[in-house]
Amino acid sequence: MKLTGARVALGATSAERIDLEIQRGRFRPWGTSTGNGPELDLDGYLILPGLINCHDHLEFNLFPRLGRGPYPNATAWAEDIYHPDRSPVKEHLAVPKAVRLAWGGLKNLLSGVTTVAHHNPYDAEVFENGFPVRVVKRFGWAHSLHFSSSVANRYRAVSKRWPFLIHAAEGTDSNAAAEIQELERTGVLSSRTVLIHGVGIDCDSLEILLRRRASVVWCPSSNLFMLSQTLRPEVLRSAMPICLGTDSALTCQGDLACELRVARKTGCLTAADIYTMVTTQAARALRLTRGEGEIREHGIADLLAVSDCGQNPAEALQEFVPALVILGGRIQLVANDLAARIDPMLTRHLQKIELEGQGTWLVNANVSLLRAATEAVLGTNFQLAGRPVRA
Ligand SMILES: [Zn+2]
Repeated sequence: MKLTGARVALGATSAERIDLEIQRGRFRPWGTSTGNGPELDLDGYLILPGLINCHDHLEFNLFPRLGRGPYPNATAWAEDIYHPDRSPVKEHLAVPKAVRLAWGGLKNLLSGVTTVAHHNPYDAEVFENGFPVRVVKRFGWAHSLHFSSSVANRYRAVSKRWPFLIHAAEGTDSNAAAEIQELERTGVLSSRTVLIHGVGIDCDSLEILLRRRASVVWCPSSNLFMLSQTLRPEVLRSAMPICLGTDSALTCQGDLACELRVARKTGCLTAADIYTMVTTQAARALRLTRGEGEIREHGIADLLAVSDCGQNPAEALQEFVPALVILGGRIQLVANDLAARIDPMLTRHLQKIELEGQGTWLVNANVSLLRAATEAVLGTNFQLAGRPVRA
């Protein structure tokens, strides 16, 4: 497949007009077109790397936000909201898990994500059978110090080439701050440790994390909802590698596009800083090595195209609606207006989806089957990450 006429992001602040050719799921070196295959005219669009969401719980994205914060820490929140025998948790858990996971994949796809880190066991049967986005497969994890036993053993059992992800310091009280000291004491901190949240990181624990070269995944809207605080400005401005994640709809305001806006509103960071959090920095923290998070020669063909208003790639991510998403060379999403310009043969595997107030797209998912399975339990007014889904 050949993509012509678009500007292509070569970094946070640079883009050039380059014709891309995709062969066997990867970008061919620039200017070496084979002349084979279909061509997509993307004049008027800006091609960005497919985005990387570093934290989600895919099966919880049909839920409404639950809880009335602020809580002192995530354990207090979990104890308050977890009532599996009561509404609305009871009804939502009655939707088959594979269906809920697929909706979580769709939430990500509809915000331009091509790779997501799902904080739960990897379900090959679901994630390797036409799932809307790529789910990180090679990783170690523990839920948290509070809810997981033998965290240090779990960390040591993981390949040194893989990241180790754990919720940590998700709170504003002394318990949350003490978790960094505990992870340090038990030898769980290194350059492959990826801490989710880190709201409780103070000056002392920041020094430890910088020394150990650990990364943090920042989920600002989720933190603000649950704790009324998020990462401290001195942490956001430090040299620590920071990526962006949505967490699930249980606490997050929306999808990754929404989270990018919330991140910018904190006022601590430039658009370019935030761009790396969902592209190159995210790929480094998750140890993704096939070219995820950038558009480069021989790299994996994961991309997001948005309307080109002449802005640089970082600015484009501040406010966008996905027009096209390609995953490993395959079209996964096309916005309605762009679909009219594309050979119908290239979009015949896609089904229509509309998110109220967001847009209408064609996506590579069995939307009608997912809707039927969901409506059978939740009725027709269900929401995906806070947005009503329409036929
Ligand atoms: Zn989480």
